[in-house]
Amino acid sequence: MSKALPSLLVQGYEVVIGFETHTQLSTASKIFSRASTAFGAEPNTQACAVDLALPGTLPVMNKGAVERAIQLGLALGSTIAPRSVFARKNYFYPDLPKGYQISQFEIPVVQGGSVEFFLGDEKKTVRLVRAHLEEDAGKSLHEEFIGQTGIDLNRAGTPLLEIVTEPDMRSSAEAVAYAKELHKIVTWIGICDGNMQEGSFRCDANVSVRKPGAELGTRREIKNLNSFKFMQQAIDFEVRWQIEQIEDGHAIQQATVLFNPDTGETRAMRTKEDAADYRYFPDPDLPPLVVAPEWVERVRSEMAELPRVMAARFGANYGLSEYDATALTQSKGIARYFEAAIAAGQPAQPKLAANWVMGEVARRLNAQDLDIAQAPVAADQLAKLLDRIADGTVSNNAARQVFDVLWTDADAEVDAVIEAKGLKQMNDTGALEAIVDTVIAANAKNVAEFKAGNEKALNALVGQIMKASAGKANPGQVNALLKVKLAG
Ligand code: ADP
Ligand code: MG
Repeated sequence: MSKALPSLLVQGYEVVIGFETHTQLSTASKIFSRASTAFGAEPNTQACAVDLALPGTLPVMNKGAVERAIQLGLALGSTIAPRSVFARKNYFYPDLPKGYQISQFEIPVVQGGSVEFFLGDEKKTVRLVRAHLEEDAGKSLHEEFIGQTGIDLNRAGTPLLEIVTEPDMRSSAEAVAYAKELHKIVTWIGICDGNMQEGSFRCDANVSVRKPGAELGTRREIKNLNSFKFMQQAIDFEVRWQIEQIEDGHAIQQATVLFNPDTGETRAMRTKEDAADYRYFPDPDLPPLVVAPEWVERVRSEMAELPRVMAARFGANYGLSEYDATALTQSKGIARYFEAAIAAGQPAQPKLAANWVMGEVARRLNAQDLDIAQAPVAADQLAKLLDRIADGTVSNNAARQVFDVLWTDADAEVDAVIEAKGLKQMNDTGALEAIVDTVIAANAKNVAEFKAGNEKALNALVGQIMKASAGKANPGQVNALLKVKLAG
């Protein structure tokens, strides 16, 4: 994967990016018909008369698609339009049997709002222009072997919510972070399955460059990016290409381009159409979509807690930083695991649990490419281990060794592992004192240095004691004991 270009300037140019994301909504049936939206069926087995645009058929709005649009709007702080309108976007293409796509144009159902996320530890806000409902097209299947192209209309009429941002992003890294955040939100609220390979979440990246302070440059639109990796590569290539063109004295032509993952290059597919080319007009077959305030409120009352709200609650209830709270709400699964670990703790250890979930747990999940749902250590087992750290039974270091065993051995139990590996911390003051006395007696030089004001000499003594106890002494107690004994 190519490294992310740093934000701000690239060879003296500012990068400007705006996104249009097509999310397939997770309704069982299509946006204007009853045909199934299930992925992967035999071609043309899920296209009914409406999807095929047979004469005499009429579209009927799927309420579930509207509810999902409302959910997104509520999640992103948008305005839900009380009345929105479906239009016909006219163009000719073999996978579009009606000769037009039904899409909201002048008045979309979701207006404004924003997506907030961290880029490293910097907080970013990308403003949304709108999100509108529309229908997906079918697919052309190019059968190179027989030299023919077939049309599969199963996808025709699948509900889409197209989410459009302002040109607020300034680097490929920021664009990818935005896309990941949006992906998290749509899957969190459950309006889209988020499966990028199957095309459920497809991003178009509009990219331009300009000298700082200049007017917006002419953009080119990279279509259908369906992996975060390709997204970054495509934008980075496009930025370099545009700068090279400008530096060579060529003007950028507005165009639609495709990214070829095999070559890592973007290539113009067609020059960009204007809205006028599509001859939009309100669809006479569909009445305006009316969303009453009561409907919005009912949807709101049925929605699960949103990541932003949950992160704020984690901050307020558990004393976590915004950064940590955001990391713990990166997915519903992680958040659930974290809260389960807290709930099972006796007493609850929110900060310790946060550190362990983001540290030890996340590291192992990443290394093995596992989802939190597949974590071999259950949240209540982690809680038990954290209890043992909190009550002084084991040190953090020893707890990591215990965790390793829990991770690989499904039958392992916290206390039994601590016992079997002899990892109990030495909390018995009598035994500890004996070791401390011995070490003090044997290290007169360090003792003298400490008494002369060299604080670092204490560390040397602590080190000796830890060693003498085979790492089992409780470092906190060792420090306290040493200070008492050396104070005289
Ligand atoms: P269209 O409907 O023709 O695709 P829009 O004006 O709706 O055009 O913009 C589409 C997307 O392109 C939006 O996400 C917008 O933020 C982005 N965009 C517009 N102008 C630029 C620009 N100069 N550079 C980068 N992105 C842009
Ligand atoms: Mg567009």
